[in-house]
Amino acid sequence: MAISVYVHGVAKRHGAISRQMFAQHKVDSITNGVHVGFWTAPAIQALYDRHITARREDNARLRYALGIPRHEVWAAHQTAKEDLVRVVNHRTGVGMFSNVFTLGFARRATPYKRADLLFHDVPRLFALHHAAGPIQIVYAGKAHPRDGGGKDLIRHIHEHIRALEGQISIAYLEDYDMALARRMVAGVDLWLNTPQPPLEASGTSGMKAAMNGVPQLSILDGRWLEGCIEGVTGWAIGNDNGTNSADDRAVDAQSLYNKLETVIPPLYYRYQDRYMDVMKHAIALNGSFFNTERMVDQYVRKAYFR
Ligand SMILES: *Cc1c(COP(=O)(O)O)cnc(C)c1O
Repeated sequence: MAISVYVHGVAKRHGAISRQMFAQHKVDSITNGVHVGFWTAPAIQALYDRHITARREDNARLRYALGIPRHEVWAAHQTAKEDLVRVVNHRTGVGMFSNVFTLGFARRATPYKRADLLFHDVPRLFALHHAAGPIQIVYAGKAHPRDGGGKDLIRHIHEHIRALEGQISIAYLEDYDMALARRMVAGVDLWLNTPQPPLEASGTSGMKAAMNGVPQLSILDGRWLEGCIEGVTGWAIGNDNGTNSADDRAVDAQSLYNKLETVIPPLYYRYQDRYMDVMKHAIALNGSFFNTERMVDQYVRKAYFR
């Protein structure tokens, strides 16, 4: 840092936090992006090929996703979802269905990502599964060999999976890697992210989901502060409580359950057109921005040729 002419964070909030931590340095930010061609599922690519010409030369053209008929977005998504469900059932025998609302969570398993937040109040999770509409959940993520807390987290989630067996279908897929990530971000209906603020520097898997038309439900931290328009591109868990670092586990869990009880599965099951509109906005507003093309442009402009 001391000998760099240019220093930056990987999201606006990450830049702000870094300025607090290293007040003697000038710290800018360049928000991360992911590669559209690599991260979009074949069915979604085919959808774009039909409706969004020249997007490979200009990712910003993904904003034209707003003009794609809803049922075509839905059909392409269902193809990606069926692919994931097939893989989950083949690998785990859990017996998932492609017409059930599916949450996805895949992260490096480490305590601050709070992968078990969904199980904070199991009776409440179980109740919403019956009241708001059935859910199924796909997990993945490995812990670093020396991260004891991360390994405990995986064990803890497996205990919940066993306890809920026969009641809620939950799978924990082994060997999380980019090939599996690619299937998961396209094949679930909602991408979940529950880090403890302000520890998520950026968060990139939600970007991968967005460009596949998969909205996310996430803590307002990292780049989700830039990507979330509530009910338009996805949903927030909790409020942006600034840069404090208290672990508001209980508060965040309440907010998570509220969104699942009253907002998201009800939209998915009862107002499907509106769910599809959120999917389209995830592509048009977030896919068009959180990509490597825009990111590299900013690196060139802000860092390399300044
Ligand atoms: C994208 C990705 C990550 C990083 O995801 P975050 O949301 O930034 O935590 C980690 N591992 C794999 C395999 C990925 O594809």
